[in-house]
Amino acid sequence: MSISMNTDIKTIYLILTIFCKDKHNSKRKLCGSCLSLYQYSKNRMKKCKFKIHGFVCSECEVHCFEKEKRVLTKEIMRYSYSKMIFKHPFISIRYLINKLKSKIIKKNYLAKNKKTS
Ligand SMILES: [Zn+2]
Repeated sequence: MSISMNTDIKTIYLILTIFCKDKHNSKRKLCGSCLSLYQYSKNRMKKCKFKIHGFVCSECEVHCFEKEKRVLTKEIMRYSYSKMIFKHPFISIRYLINKLKSKIIKKNYLAKNKKTS
């Protein structure tokens, strides 16, 4: 598993935890629906062929999530991200670095694929 995938999975978990605690009044664990969204995201990430190139999901061209789950994930991200920075600054910064890196990797990847095809 790549470092970027690990960070993404950790990020999504923490983001869900913040959201679930505030919106679903969960105490320690995720509620049923948040847990299933987490499992779903994790499985999708593991199957993602772009992850090995170090993409973070938000930079990905292939929207592999079902539409409904993608909309929900975006909403949760928007809600929790600002809180993440204060609660888990290290992971948030790592995530931002990965995001920047993905932009560069993506540019190179697309350029390379253009040349060979
Ligand atoms: Zn929940």
